[in-house]
Amino acid sequence: MSGRFAPSPTGPLHLGNLRTALAAWLAARSSGRGFLVRMEDLDRVTSSPLHEQAQLEDLTQLGLDWDGPVVRQSERFDRYRAALTRLDEAGLVYPCYCTRREIRSEIEAAASAPHGLAADGAYPGTCRDLSAGQRAERTAAGRRPALRLRAEGERIVFRDDLVGTVEGLVDDVVLARSDGVPAYNLAVVVDDAVQGVTQVVRGDDLLSSTPRQVHLQRLLGLPTPSYLHVPLVLGPDGARLAKRHGAVTLAELTVGLGRAERDRRVATILSALAVSLGVLDDGEVVEPGELDGLIDRFDVVRLPRAPLAWSELAALLA
Ligand code: GLU
Repeated sequence: MSGRFAPSPTGPLHLGNLRTALAAWLAARSSGRGFLVRMEDLDRVTSSPLHEQAQLEDLTQLGLDWDGPVVRQSERFDRYRAALTRLDEAGLVYPCYCTRREIRSEIEAAASAPHGLAADGAYPGTCRDLSAGQRAERTAAGRRPALRLRAEGERIVFRDDLVGTVEGLVDDVVLARSDGVPAYNLAVVVDDAVQGVTQVVRGDDLLSSTPRQVHLQRLLGLPTPSYLHVPLVLGPDGARLAKRHGAVTLAELTVGLGRAERDRRVATILSALAVSLGVLDDGEVVEPGELDGLIDRFDVVRLPRAPLAWSELAALLA
């Protein structure tokens, strides 16, 4: 029984990522669960061991600890392929030759149609019913297919501990990319089950992907964990916080500081994140080494339901 934090090591963690990590750690520890860290480094081009190292150091600096070794998805492709084979044997997988651009223009062309419960960027189903001849034609033209799930427009209802009941339609989600790399939604479902993850706490940008994951869990006979999607931190321009906003990572916020000053700064950052999650009162300070003292204060009821505006976070950091 564990919770987890599963970053992609494609860059430094920013304050929004760190806040989600803290929320996941508090939720796991306060419910007596273990806490795992999994590196979602499926994409070998964008992921790097240097980012992985820096991300783990950031977590440690904030006093977040985890149980057991850090797992890397890049070392577990055989498990994802086994799950893919199982779905294929059940007749639920088909090759898709569409490029991203083709999918985008199809979605745009259909933009006037009502979206209803469909996930962001839902696949319009272009390649679902190609004949053997049409597939052969595309292969002959040198196109390498991605593999997609035949989801039959399944409607999924699940509970989120913060949002309540969520309902969504599952599209024909990618299971393996055209270069053979297993896709995120498949890997996450397999790993959460294999690792005994019973609680998923993550950013609410993934809320619309959760029906896909719940559907895959059911098809593969895997348990569904509890979900808690944490509202994101916004940048000064109101868009989701990102590296480009600048001065948003631990390294950037502590650059050039001497040891003592740096420690104070890290405690301020940690305290700001803790206040924003409702486990610390404004004006209180928590040191990384004292984080255990906040575990009992974690309560979903005190977790804000709205995104955290940059101005609020900046005020806490001042
Ligand atoms: N690796 C994903 C990300 O960094 C998170 C996946 C998850 O928590 O399920 O956005």
